Amino acid sequence: MQHFPIFVALAGRRVVLSGGGEAALAKLRLLLKTEAHITVFSPDPSPEIRAWAGARRLRWVGRALEPGDALCTVLFYAADEDAGEDARTTALARADGALTNIVDNLGDSQFITPAIVDRDPVTVAIGTEGAAPVLARAIKRDLEAQLPSTLGLLARAGKAFRKLAEALPAGRARRDFWADYYFRAGPRAAASGEEAVQQSLDDLLSAHLARKPQTGHITFVGAGPGDPELLTLKARKAIDAADVIIHDRLISPAILELARREAVLIDAGKEGFGPSMTQDEINALIIRHGQAGAQVVRLKSGDPTVFGRLDEEIDAVDESGITWHIVPGITSASAAVAALGQSLTKRGRNSALRFITGHDSRGFADHDWRALARPGEVAAIYMGKRAARFIQGRLLMHGANPATPVSAVENASRPDQRILSTSLAQLPADLATAQLTGPALVLLGLAPRDAATALSELQQEEII
Ligand code: SAH
Repeated sequence: MQHFPIFVALAGRRVVLSGGGEAALAKLRLLLKTEAHITVFSPDPSPEIRAWAGARRLRWVGRALEPGDALCTVLFYAADEDAGEDARTTALARADGALTNIVDNLGDSQFITPAIVDRDPVTVAIGTEGAAPVLARAIKRDLEAQLPSTLGLLARAGKAFRKLAEALPAGRARRDFWADYYFRAGPRAAASGEEAVQQSLDDLLSAHLARKPQTGHITFVGAGPGDPELLTLKARKAIDAADVIIHDRLISPAILELARREAVLIDAGKEGFGPSMTQDEINALIIRHGQAGAQVVRLKSGDPTVFGRLDEEIDAVDESGITWHIVPGITSASAAVAALGQSLTKRGRNSALRFITGHDSRGFADHDWRALARPGEVAAIYMGKRAARFIQGRLLMHGANPATPVSAVENASRPDQRILSTSLAQLPADLATAQLTGPALVLLGLAPRDAATALSELQQEEII
């Protein structure tokens, strides 16, 4: 991020603009929405600027900018529409201590003005650091369509009501009140005007004050393999409503970004190897937050019911008497096989499918190797990287064909997804060479479908 977005308080403060043409007008129309003291320097400004000066909405000085003109100025805009004059006026303003912007000259500007969606006091600023003005305009158009025109009214009334809403205890109760107002009662009332909005606030507050305090609840949520678009709608809603999110290390940052800003995010950091919280510590953490009345989301990668130690957590929660439910997710085997363009089962090839783990609590996990070694068998192997040599040895010992196709999909569904296509004979060597550092799913008995691989590479490129 090269530009840090902030909102600058301009009420009663000085903003200076040099220029009097179209570029100046465009900036002034925006600046006039603020309560800044605006001064325009221009020997020959357009009639609009003269009119604004006449109406005392800004001060107009009928000459070019000179040293000292931008003293005590917060923001300075060079809108001279002349590179030489822009450079001159900007240098003067900088010397006077102002933060400077040259219209349509990103490189020489100290700050830039974003695209703005204005529902005062709600303002959405969109910046692309100059990379894609077209994109900024498209986002602005979408937001304009999405944000109802009554939003400003709701927000103003809401702001004036903040003190009264403090009658509700801080945290969950107050947030629920505001969510109810902004997303339900408020928009309904807004259609009937300002008074109805005021009334809806009063009614809603009485209703919320009469409510019993919320009890805690635990939702075990599957976050899917990493692509935020592979979250279920229920997962998304649970994340939206969570006070506390206790997540695994495998959860991608793009998904954690979706959490509310006030939500407490806790990395339970449980990975097969390396430093981690113990399961008991995680259980205790979940229960502690649940007992405090929080809506807790226990966010697990993929599907929480697949190699997620879910039952241990549920048992602990059950013992504490807190309510819970499960939101399923897309398991990484589904994402991995989709990346191969294959299916997990196929008529005439395999009528059964195994989800196996390379590891269990005792070390490398044992399985029905004889059954797995049969031609046509398909197994999705979780946590299989380290166990690859062991698995290969067992399978070959039980008569598996060394040419059996094996694929490994690292970071399935994520932008850095990689597919390794190999055979049982070559598996350990190829895995070692590929140096997969991310989570990887090994698919025994499946090779990528060529066309599908090409397609997924294409998609990858598009994503990048
Ligand atoms: N509950 C998870 C599995 C947890 S076990 C699920 O349903 O997917 C952790 C293992 O899952 C990792 O070692 C890896 O084998 C697999 N895994 C998780 N996310 C993955 C991803 N994005 N790509 C490939 N494998 C993944």
